[in-house]
Amino acid sequence: MRFGLVAWMILSGFLAFSGPAMAQRQAVAETPIRIQLKWFHQFQFAGYYAALEKGFFEEAGLDVRLIAGGPTIDPAHAVMFGEAEFGVGNSTLLLDRADGMPLVAVSAIFQHSPFVILARRDAGLETVKDLEGRTMMAEAHAAELFAYLKLAGVDLSKIQFVDHTGDISNLAAEDPSGIDATTAYSTTEPYDAIRLDLPYRIFNPRERTIDFYGDTLFTTEAFLERNPATVKALRDALLKGWAYALSHQEEIISIIMEKYAPKIDRLHMSYEAQTIYDLLATELVEIGYMSETRWRQIADVFVEAGMLDAGFSLEGFVYVDEEPVDPKYYYWIATLALIAIIGFSLAHRFWRLNRRLREEIFAKEALRVELEALATTDALSGLANRRELSRWAHHEISRAKRQQDDLALIQFDLDGFKGINDRWGHALGDRAISLVADAMRRSLREIDLAARVGGDEFVAVLPKADLAAANRVLTRLRGELHTAGLVSDDGSPVAISASFGVAVLQFDDRTLEDLMHRADTAMYKEKEAHREVARMSDIQLGVA
Ligand code: GH3
Ligand code: MG
Repeated sequence: MRFGLVAWMILSGFLAFSGPAMAQRQAVAETPIRIQLKWFHQFQFAGYYAALEKGFFEEAGLDVRLIAGGPTIDPAHAVMFGEAEFGVGNSTLLLDRADGMPLVAVSAIFQHSPFVILARRDAGLETVKDLEGRTMMAEAHAAELFAYLKLAGVDLSKIQFVDHTGDISNLAAEDPSGIDATTAYSTTEPYDAIRLDLPYRIFNPRERTIDFYGDTLFTTEAFLERNPATVKALRDALLKGWAYALSHQEEIISIIMEKYAPKIDRLHMSYEAQTIYDLLATELVEIGYMSETRWRQIADVFVEAGMLDAGFSLEGFVYVDEEPVDPKYYYWIATLALIAIIGFSLAHRFWRLNRRLREEIFAKEALRVELEALATTDALSGLANRRELSRWAHHEISRAKRQQDDLALIQFDLDGFKGINDRWGHALGDRAISLVADAMRRSLREIDLAARVGGDEFVAVLPKADLAAANRVLTRLRGELHTAGLVSDDGSPVAISASFGVAVLQFDDRTLEDLMHRADTAMYKEKEAHREVARMSDIQLGVA
């Protein structure tokens, strides 16, 4: 199964990576792309300036124009009504979408919203609740602050909201506008308040663990549908711009001051740059990272504040980089993976079986060889086999020569044994061999060794026996064979006869073979004689 698993991983990995890459790439749009910013030119849009001025948009084939915003400009409306292709919005985009604007969030640049309520540090204005009965400036896209106030138990109808003037000096106690608080960016207005010597207090939604996305690049569903490659290219170039701006703050500030906002002072923008850096949360996530889960949590806050229907669907709102993969494609991955798993596991099982079989055969063969090597006796006769005879005789011959002792060898081969087999069957032949073995055991002395050295060929080694002693044994043996008593299945007696040869150890004999060679020659002579007799008797029988 291990094989199958590995194969499945390789195959599905390959398909999963190659599939989306096969998605068709489209050319980027050629018309100028307009981006509606959310506020006046300032460091808040540093990534946009960097992408434009450092040529990242151009490299991506995009001709981009930036349109400044302000307190009365709603980027969602600008994009919806065709005044721009992209806009910089915030969590209010969710409410806009619920209102029927098919907007798509492309990338969340600020991981946290800089939106706060900045209030004059009055004696009676210590909590958000104290905003009741007061006047507050609110900009167009500050819905998340209303949600915050509602969830903090503030009765919004008791606050007098006025349009945002974009001028924080209206908060001064002596200012005729009578404004007590304002929606503000934590990245900008506190600095202005300090410069104006205006005592202030900040009410921050994050103190109530309400955490929204801040500046978010968005477009419309229709534009995304027609220009998916443009959307991706612009997003990527913008994120590159942001990365550049964060690591080259002074350079981008100079560019902003030179080309976009000559009136803002450098210190103001340095302050803004520092606070924005924190909002991008680059140490936690990639720049521009956006998740549907997080948007869902933001939507839930709006739902809780009664500003959004509970059933609000995020479907189509959160931009996904890759084009959706055809479900059929996953079906094919699954099918191929399954086939691969089955195929590989079968192959592997077969391979293992085969290997085990080979191992078993090899082990058996090794065992057989080993057993054979260990065996000293002939199975049928129970006599010593040829190997044992060699070993034993070698030892006895050496000893006899050393002690100048006699040693004799008797060799014999059964006469017409093939004929017994042919006539009476192999089983009777076998029985004859064991009767011969019995006869040998009966006629040999205690110290002699009897061996079967071939099919019907036998040898006896007789230590301490001279020719006379050997002949005595031989006579006994002939007699035993004569009376062996082999009887065929039909009850007729079958005679066992053999031809013998005897040899005694001589001075220049060295090995068993030397003795056997002489015994064999002697035996052959007797064999010839026996054959002659046999032929004669056949003829006589034939005549008779
Ligand atoms: P010869 O008189 O010339 O010795 O003739 P033979 O028929 O005995 O022939 P030979 O010695 O040349 O051949 C021996 C025969 O013994 C061959 C084979 O058929 C038979 N034989 C050998 N081993 C066995 C065995 O284990 N069992 C049986 N039944 N027969 C065997
Ligand atoms: Mg024979």
